[in-house]
Amino acid sequence: MNNSLFQKVKVTKATKSRIDTVDFENLAFGNVFTDHMLECDYENGEWINPQVRPYGNIELSPSARVFHYGQAVFEGMKAFKDEQDQVWLFRPEENYRRFNKSSTRLAIPEVPKEVFMDGLEVLVDLDRNWVQKGRGNSLYLRPFVIATEAGVSASPSTKYKFMIICSPAKAYYSGEVRVVFAEKFSRAADGGVGFAKAAGNYAAQFYPTNLAKEEGYQQVVWTDASTHEYLEEAGTMNVFFRIGDTLLTAPTGDRILDGVTRKSVLTLAEHLNIPTEVRRVSVQEIVEAARAGTLKEMFGSGTAATINPIKGFACKNEKFELPQQKDSYANLFKEKLMDIQYNISEDLFGWRHLVQPKAL
Ligand SMILES: *Cc1c(COP(=O)(O)O)cnc(C)c1O
Repeated sequence: MNNSLFQKVKVTKATKSRIDTVDFENLAFGNVFTDHMLECDYENGEWINPQVRPYGNIELSPSARVFHYGQAVFEGMKAFKDEQDQVWLFRPEENYRRFNKSSTRLAIPEVPKEVFMDGLEVLVDLDRNWVQKGRGNSLYLRPFVIATEAGVSASPSTKYKFMIICSPAKAYYSGEVRVVFAEKFSRAADGGVGFAKAAGNYAAQFYPTNLAKEEGYQQVVWTDASTHEYLEEAGTMNVFFRIGDTLLTAPTGDRILDGVTRKSVLTLAEHLNIPTEVRRVSVQEIVEAARAGTLKEMFGSGTAATINPIKGFACKNEKFELPQQKDSYANLFKEKLMDIQYNISEDLFGWRHLVQPKAL
């Protein structure tokens, strides 16, 4: 931690916490925000005035670049509380690194590590009462950056705003998830922005996903844009398959986001001696395995849900249901990850990051 920056982050505390007005038992994901937020502006080539202040609206010109050309990227991460009331982040440096990788692709200047990491710690420490104890509870953290320069000329903004907002979250139960393999629409193309957490990637998924929902599927499994023959991501999650006892997932690259949950699952699989293949996974082999009864599981991985089991899928109007697994990998990885996140098991891989109390 960098103490000099901690002195540089201006902190204005909320006069009164809103925490007593929140029904933590009935939280819908991402609707309630904590007392404070982090804000830092970029002007004249530098990031200035990092500050933590009461959560509230911001004012922007209607001609701010973000509204017209979509120069915006974000991250998603979580804080967890253990039984001793300590607060932990999970692999936050991975999110920091990815945030700047995404930013670079969108011609947005990188945020310095002190602003992102120390700012995050000051903020989470200040709002630590909002991190509820209990397995499944967490504080969802949403760093993002937007282009704020006024004027609609189609060029990169010279002004940006970096912010972090925090939203208390309960265990994520999505119900039974059935997916449809994409045959027409695509999420990402070679040389494009699929690897980046660009805001516009999400906007572009809403319409095809709505069409899938009308057909009774909760998500689209995206296939490669040129042939639609290879399976890439499940909605906004990375996707895994289990054929026999082998775990399969596609390699990351231009089109596939390098998920922190995905890489944690792969590390755990290796540690647990689960045979794993990171390679292109074809629609045809998954359909054939499903027909032969060797396709045991499919699941998505991502910060919000951790692991999201998939019950069934549709491909070219044919429907498949997956069997119930007693020794499910999805469940195994979810429990192992949560044991690490909630400081229950040993941190073999150095993934936990303690939020120091009273960093100020
Ligand atoms: C955020 C995201 C993921 C999951 O990444 P995690 O780091 O595991 O949360 C996967 N795919 C896409 C497209 C994403 O935006």
